[in-house]
Amino acid sequence: MKYSPLENVIGGSTATACAAELDVVSPVDGSLLSRVPLSTACEVTAAVDSAAAAYEDWAGRTLKERSQVFYRYRSLLEKNLDDLARLVREENGKTLDEARAEIVKAIEVTEFACSLPQIAGGEVMEVSPGVECRVAHVPIGVVASITPFNFPVMVPHWTIPIALGLGNCLILKPSELTPISANRAAELLQDAGLPDSVFQVVHGGQAAVEGLCDHPAIAALSFVGSTRVAKIVYARATANLKRALAMGGAKNHLIVLPDADREMTASNVVESMAGCAGQRCMAASAMVAVADVDPIIDEICRQARALQVGRSLGAVITRAAKDRIEGYITAAESAGAKVLVDGRGAVAEGCENGFYVGPTVIDDVTPDMAIAREEVFGPVLAIIRAADIDAALEIENSSPYGNAAAVYTRDGGKARPIVEQSSAGMIGVNVGVPVPREPFGFGGWNDSRFGCGDITGRSSIAFWTQSKKVTSRWAP
Ligand code: NAD
Repeated sequence: MKYSPLENVIGGSTATACAAELDVVSPVDGSLLSRVPLSTACEVTAAVDSAAAAYEDWAGRTLKERSQVFYRYRSLLEKNLDDLARLVREENGKTLDEARAEIVKAIEVTEFACSLPQIAGGEVMEVSPGVECRVAHVPIGVVASITPFNFPVMVPHWTIPIALGLGNCLILKPSELTPISANRAAELLQDAGLPDSVFQVVHGGQAAVEGLCDHPAIAALSFVGSTRVAKIVYARATANLKRALAMGGAKNHLIVLPDADREMTASNVVESMAGCAGQRCMAASAMVAVADVDPIIDEICRQARALQVGRSLGAVITRAAKDRIEGYITAAESAGAKVLVDGRGAVAEGCENGFYVGPTVIDDVTPDMAIAREEVFGPVLAIIRAADIDAALEIENSSPYGNAAAVYTRDGGKARPIVEQSSAGMIGVNVGVPVPREPFGFGGWNDSRFGCGDITGRSSIAFWTQSKKVTSRWAP
């Protein structure tokens, strides 16, 4: 085992005592990295009690004072970028470049948190002579963040610097599949001067999440993960009268028109479907080919074949994920789809025990096939043919998800109806992974998001604070 067994980070120190543990296995080569505790409501209560004791001091500091911690933390993230990236590669399986990019994104959100004193200040106005109204954005208390395996550093950082910078005490429950970098973030936050218990890590799976949803002293909870679990968590947290925001899974459609730039479109589509081995909620897993775009499809296949498994294409998270993804490909083929590039049975040289699926392009997929409707979460592009833009939009609109959609064309007049009528929260025009950069917020629609607002950007300020309105009259 490469690292010592992980412990929860409660009250500024690591604490064991969980009855059950789970192996943490590297998807890169199947090796044992560590073991993670499977916490229960008991450990959640210990963390909440600790956070509640730390809250008054932290919340009582000014926004400017709190933001100083994040200036220092940002420098530490930058200084430790390569080490963190190596850790993410080991526990998640993505390539080193992809891991590095995710740390850079975490740094970007931390920079946004450094700017909170400039953008989250209150407002004041004299509303009638001698009468003043003031609005202040104050913290809400002890809060929680539950995150998925696919971005072990970036997704936790959608919430860590913002929720903390705004004066809350945060308990993170990272994915049990990729839990190691969360403890490293806790160490760096401590090095940056964050007081003990303001940020804590409770490891585990379902039982830990249920403990967080049920604990009466947790005021708000954000979740990022699959739609199935997002629905469960959102329903349970709100039934317990908590503020909740739950980001779910996705099925993103890229609509390619015949006039699109061949080279640029192909490289962009391949990057979108195969980046992070297709394990991104922004991945293009369905391409809607409008009319004759065969030259673009040929180029997509050429570029997909050029990817090198284990080098430019990382691993998928578990052996079960590999089997599930390959099952989708086989089912589509049996139902009549044409597998143009086949990634089944891929092996990475030197990492024969790792979990790999090669780049896969499947043509003639019909909208009723599972591969067209469900989130595959692997490096697989399903091509669905459509006669015109209206038919393409019908396919996009029929998906219950709504994270992202994109259009490829050189014609702004043709792009416009697709931008306006796609039922998704994040739209790309000649951009296959249309992730809004800070200070714009990240968030989908429909079954890709439950609750109100985006998880980053300005609406995150509203989510992690409550507004206090003070009306004052002063005698002349
Ligand atoms: P997941 O839903 O399996 O797990 C997410 C979290 O929920 C983990 O911390 C896990 O421990 C916990 N969990 C799992 N089962 C649970 C249960 N029954 N009850 C309570 N908690 C439970 O997701 P994953 O496989 O780790 O991540 C991949 C998914 O996340 C994909 O669907 C992807 O699209 C989605 N995702 C969405 C976004 C977004 O912003 N919309 C971003 C990243 C990932």
